[in-house]
Amino acid sequence: MSIEIKNVTKIYGLQKALNEVSFTVNQGEILGFLGPNGAGKSTLMKIISCYIPPTEGTVIVDGYDVREDSLEIRKRVGYLPEHNPLYLDMYVKEYLTFIAGIHKLNKKKEKLSNVIDLVGLGLEQNKKIGQLSKGYKQRVGLAQALIHDPKVLILDEPTSGLDPNQLADIREVIKNIGKEKTVMFSSHIMQEIEAICDRIVIINRGKLIVDKDALQMMNSNSSQQIVQVEFEKIVSKTELKSIKGVEKVKQLEGNSWQLISTKPEDLRVEISKFASSKGILVLSLQKETQKLENIFKELTN
Ligand code: ADP
Ligand code: MG
Repeated sequence: MSIEIKNVTKIYGLQKALNEVSFTVNQGEILGFLGPNGAGKSTLMKIISCYIPPTEGTVIVDGYDVREDSLEIRKRVGYLPEHNPLYLDMYVKEYLTFIAGIHKLNKKKEKLSNVIDLVGLGLEQNKKIGQLSKGYKQRVGLAQALIHDPKVLILDEPTSGLDPNQLADIREVIKNIGKEKTVMFSSHIMQEIEAICDRIVIINRGKLIVDKDALQMMNSNSSQQIVQVEFEKIVSKTELKSIKGVEKVKQLEGNSWQLISTKPEDLRVEISKFASSKGILVLSLQKETQKLENIFKELTN
């Protein structure tokens, strides 16, 4: 079940919150949707889950158009809004039963207990929502989004405001859910997108600026290669500079070196050739990937 976003523009009054955004979320993918505050992330997620219509353009979810088949789409999409609105005076089970009723589900009891297991709410299921910690409230929000077993999940900053332990727990839950569903997940935290997602889309001021496979993105934005190598014995700087493609050499500690090249050929191959021609053993050899965080800063500034 895929999501096709085609030339979507959203105008609020005089402000263009989205400006001709197009990309596709593929079946079974966990897509990280990144952008600074005010970029338009929540706006697009509301459009996909049929809360607001686009001003121009279309979104197709599993073959249905958000403008024409909103009910069909709502059956297939689970949506966790930003700030996770919940009825704090309701009990967890009571609230989830209420949501199951809205979806007109049959076998409510069975579905409730499945979803409670899935998000790890077992011990808290008989409490009032208002009594739960932030991390467990977030699980209630996730359960709400999952109860009708949607094929697509739209999660708007699901981890914001959680402490490090809660964060790790919720990420684990999302990763597991992502094995079976198409997930679109927004965040302004790069590290977490790196940790969970298969693909990344970045928007800034309503415009799409990056749509790439996460790993490909981390490597392609850099014009230079940085390789760290540790040899088994002493090698001179002059010798290292003689390696094809090497432009800079820096000693790290002991027999570890950092070598930099701006040539397209894989520097690790040349280093290996050099070492074997000299009869030196290589203890470790690693190419550095550019950090997503730096790429993000560069692109959105
Ligand atoms: P993000 O989720 O990336 O932080 P939003 O989609 O919430 O961004 O907002 C994008 C821009 O649209 C912001 O400048 C925001 O102030 C504006 N905006 C969002 N919702 C409304 C609204 N209902 N009316 C007017 N402006 C809005
Ligand atoms: Mg938002």
